[in-house]
Amino acid sequence: MLNHTLFFLAKRFVAGQNIEEAVHVVRALNERGITATLDVLGENVEDGHAAENAVSSYLTTLDCIQKAQLRSNVSLKLTQMGLDISRDFCYSNLARICEKAGACHSYVRIDMEGSKYTEKTISVFLDLFRSYKSVGIVIQAYLYRSEQDLRRLIDIGARVRLCKGAYKEPADIAIQKMPEIRENFKKLAEMLLLRGNYPAIATHDDALIRWAKDYTRSHNIGKERFEFQMLYGVRSETQQRLAQEGYNMRVYVPFGTHWLPYFYRRLRERRENVYFVLKNLFKG
Ligand SMILES: Cc1cc2nc3c(=O)[nH]c(=O)nc-3n(C[C@H](O)[C@H](O)[C@H](O)COP(=O)(O)OP(=O)(O)OC[C@H]3O[C@@H](n4cnc5c(N)ncnc54)[C@H](O)[C@@H]3O)c2cc1C
Repeated sequence: MLNHTLFFLAKRFVAGQNIEEAVHVVRALNERGITATLDVLGENVEDGHAAENAVSSYLTTLDCIQKAQLRSNVSLKLTQMGLDISRDFCYSNLARICEKAGACHSYVRIDMEGSKYTEKTISVFLDLFRSYKSVGIVIQAYLYRSEQDLRRLIDIGARVRLCKGAYKEPADIAIQKMPEIRENFKKLAEMLLLRGNYPAIATHDDALIRWAKDYTRSHNIGKERFEFQMLYGVRSETQQRLAQEGYNMRVYVPFGTHWLPYFYRRLRERRENVYFVLKNLFKG
């Protein structure tokens, strides 16, 4: 019962529990000129079978994208692919998905998780990128190390999604204050917009969106050279407006049965989201 009620609330941020529901959401986005990246929810798997299941869900998702001719790629987490079990196991799982994505002319984005995994995630990505070009990574603006990481990624032509960072990190490795995170976001975004390979500016922050629009206009960086990204269920009207203004707009669409950790992160991030949940809890 509790699970049922919670999922009803999580539905604002999660497209559904199966691929059919996710396809329906992506099709509707595509019809409005917005592309997507599909995330089969799941993280921190502890046994090989769960990782294998995640791999087959992604292979099926890539098939569905191709069959339904959706304008979508996929995003995934390395801990979902067995990183906690073994790096080699995780790598070979990823390689299968990248192989398939390449064959389908699609693309795989490796999400960035908590700082315990930053180094490992970058290392697996660098190995993969030697063999597969249809794979990209995420950099979090709140981490002090990100500028160094970004230089290296730009030098090899990697595609990077830039976001603020969603995990609670200690002060010795991560900027804590929002105005400073924003400043670092701008600094890293400048590097990406000037020298990066089709970067993704992933934020719902009006100040950063305005800044990116002004910066690209004043530096003659065409709208086709980058994309904005936002999460499903967050600021849909801004997503639509950016698409109508001719910007490439991609929405991150999570689906699947393991939605709880993702839902909690969205609640922790913003007080408005908690109010939204409370308001709906007491509605009926
Ligand atoms: C496509 C995408 C992929 C991501 N991938 C990762 C990843 O791999 N790893 C990771 O650590 N993090 C990831 N994130 C999460 C990201 O790091 C941030 O935690 C999250 O986006 C919140 O930061 P923000 O810049 O969007 O805006 P915030 O700092 O949350 O908010 C800035 C402003 O935006 C507005 N706003 C934001 N949300 C709402 C809302 N619901 N309703 C109304 N106004 C709102 C408000 O005006 C607010 O003041 C991703 C985010 C996106 C969009």
